[in-house]
Amino acid sequence: MIIDILTLFPEMFSGPFEVSMIKKAKDKKLVKINIHNIRDWATDKHKTTDDRPFGGGPGMILKVEPIDKAITSIKKKTKAKSRKIILLSPQGKIFNQDKAKELSKIDHLILIAGHYEGVDQRIIDYLIDEEISIGKYILTGGEIPAMVIVDSVTRLIPGVLEKEVTENETFSKGDNFDYPQYTRPVNYKGWEVPEVLRSGDHKKIEEWRHQKSTEKEQKTEI
Ligand code: SAM
Repeated sequence: MIIDILTLFPEMFSGPFEVSMIKKAKDKKLVKINIHNIRDWATDKHKTTDDRPFGGGPGMILKVEPIDKAITSIKKKTKAKSRKIILLSPQGKIFNQDKAKELSKIDHLILIAGHYEGVDQRIIDYLIDEEISIGKYILTGGEIPAMVIVDSVTRLIPGVLEKEVTENETFSKGDNFDYPQYTRPVNYKGWEVPEVLRSGDHKKIEEWRHQKSTEKEQKTEI
C-alpha cells in the first residue's frame, strides 16, 4: 500500500512513523508513506497556501490550487488499482475499525490534513472521495487524525501483524471487546491473577475469556 499525506507541517510526522509497527511495516515494504508539504505546490512567489474567506470571517482557509496540483502530480506518479482521496475533517463520517479494514484493502490512499479554519469547499466538492473525522471534537489540524488513520490501517495490512492478533482484538467482529489479560507476578500487592488462567485447562480458560469479553460494555459517552 502507498499512503501519500498532504500537510503544511511535514515535521509533525517524523516521530510516529519511525517506530514500532509502522516502522516494521515500512521496512518490510508492506507500506510506503510519503509526506508532502502542500507549500511545494503553491503557485505564487510567496508560496501562499491559505487565504481569507470570501464573505469575511475569522481565520484562513486552505486554497484549492495547491491541493489540486498536489493530487494531480501524486496520481500521475502512482500506479494503483484502487485509490481513495480522503480529507480529514471534523465534519466527516466518524472513523471506526470497519472503516480501517476497508481502507487497508486499498492500494493507494491520499490523506489531506486541513489546518486553520479549514479548506476551500471546492476541495470537498471536486477533489476528494470522502471526509473522515476521528471524533466529535476540534483539533488544530488534520495531521494527528492522519496519523490515527495510518496507524490503524497499517496494522491491518496482511503481513504486518499475525492474523490471530487482528482477528481477535476489540472491534474485530463489530462491537466485541478483548478479554482481560494478566502477566507475572501472580500476586502484586494482594491483587491476584484469576485462578482459572493459571489452571492450564484450555477449555475453561476459553469459556472464562468469552464470558469476560461479552460482559464488558462500551461506555459510549464521557
Ligand atoms: N472551522 C472548522 C470547523 O468548524 O469545522 C474546523 C477547522 S480545524 C481547526 C482545522 C483542520 O483540522 C480541519 O480542516 C481538519 O483537517 C482537522 N480536524 C480538526 N478536527 C478534526 C477531527 N475531529 N477529525 C478530523 N480532522 C479534524
